[in-house]
Amino acid sequence: MPYSSMSKEKQKELMPTHKADMVFECLECGRTYHIDQFLYICPKCKSLLKIIDKNFYQLKKVSGEEWRRIFDFRKMINCEFLKGIFLFYELILPCIPSDDIIYLGEGHTPIVRANEDLAELVGTDFFIKYDGLNPSASFKDRGMASAVSFINYSIKKRNIKQLLGICASTGDTSAAAALYLSYLKKGVVKSVVLLPQGKVTSQQLSQPLGSGATVIEIPGVFDDCMKIVEELSENYEVFLLNSKNPVRIMGQKSYSYEIAQQLDFDTRDLVVLIPIGNAGNITAVMEGFLDLHRLEIIPELPQIIGIQSRHANPVFRWYKEKQYHSVKVRPSVAQAAMIGDPVSFPKVFRLVSENFQDKFFVVEVTEQEIMRYMLEANRHGHIVCTQGGETIAGVKAALREGYISRGSKVVVDSTSHQLKFSGFQQMYFENKFPKGYEIIPDKVLLNSPTQLPASVSEIARFLHLKKIKK
Ligand SMILES: *Cc1c(COP(=O)(O)O)cnc(C)c1O
Ligand SMILES: [Zn+2]
Repeated sequence: MPYSSMSKEKQKELMPTHKADMVFECLECGRTYHIDQFLYICPKCKSLLKIIDKNFYQLKKVSGEEWRRIFDFRKMINCEFLKGIFLFYELILPCIPSDDIIYLGEGHTPIVRANEDLAELVGTDFFIKYDGLNPSASFKDRGMASAVSFINYSIKKRNIKQLLGICASTGDTSAAAALYLSYLKKGVVKSVVLLPQGKVTSQQLSQPLGSGATVIEIPGVFDDCMKIVEELSENYEVFLLNSKNPVRIMGQKSYSYEIAQQLDFDTRDLVVLIPIGNAGNITAVMEGFLDLHRLEIIPELPQIIGIQSRHANPVFRWYKEKQYHSVKVRPSVAQAAMIGDPVSFPKVFRLVSENFQDKFFVVEVTEQEIMRYMLEANRHGHIVCTQGGETIAGVKAALREGYISRGSKVVVDSTSHQLKFSGFQQMYFENKFPKGYEIIPDKVLLNSPTQLPASVSEIARFLHLKKIKK
């Protein structure tokens, strides 16, 4: 229904009227700070910050049923600022005026039912949410849409003349940051990304380069890049675009809102599986479902299962050993999650102990399994990346551990696009993995092109084609 042809009353009903009172709140000491500044850690105790709306309770004046109706209606109308993740405006960053919202086509990614043979192979029916179908081809665009809308708002509100956005990245954060920042005014906003040399795929490297960002490569792994941008953001005037910045988390919560909406808000027996790298995504997913539950938009919280590779498994070890320590990562094809000391771990710890005690699990998978399930998924009509393969392997592992019960609705997060990680597929097909990956290709999954002359008869012979009788 065209928005303009709706009655004035109907229009008004769908438009946000909520007056938010947003603040940064320290995870540890509880101090709060006004939202109209750039903060990434508590100035007093250096702990992580989250963003809260002190007027959130007012949203409860609208019933859960009414919210469901509003969100469903918004999906049908053509109102620019309510597209994308801001369809859930009141739950993202309702301090931002509608005119300042940046929408580049992110969000509302499809949920696709896993192919029947694939489901049989894995051991249960499941759905895959394709977050690789975002503008820069990963879920990072969700958090970048909220962060860059916040920058846009801040620049206008505080008359900022110069701003340098910076991030460390395993590839996709830099692709998303560079894309979204390049939409803002040149001359005012500059974008810089810090990458671990040789540890992002060539497709991922091409993205910030193509968006015109300044790309800095340093030796080491993601954790080394992260330390540098953390120090830069504490001591220099830069805007940090990693998920340590809670404005990123706010946008990434939309992933949960969408799953809920795509399942008609029926979250009973729902299990959501998420790969864990820096732990920003799994934090956002849990916070998102919590919002919905608090507003009675969903009947219950889903079960959350985190997945890690054995080569980068600090959260899995914490889950098993009840003690957290960082790990030294080894080479992983789930490279976007190859992180030994996840920045958002304290948030995960808090959410699990306060809200998801008996609904949170972590499983570990091998590199061999990650490649196998990525290739199997894609041979069955899907488009999952290595992290998606990791997560599908995680379904199998979770079934083995008894974390998923019969009759559950299982949703797997495929966090980016297959094409970004085609290099690993190539290494598999050519059996060229360096030893450290511990991957031995399985013959039945191999594929390669065949060179033939441009001849109908030769090609027909090669394909064993039968001639049509005339
Ligand atoms: C960033 C990323 C992850 C890990 O998400 P975190 O928020 O760092 O835990 C997983 N998959 C892909 C494709 C990513 O880009
Ligand atoms: Zn504090």
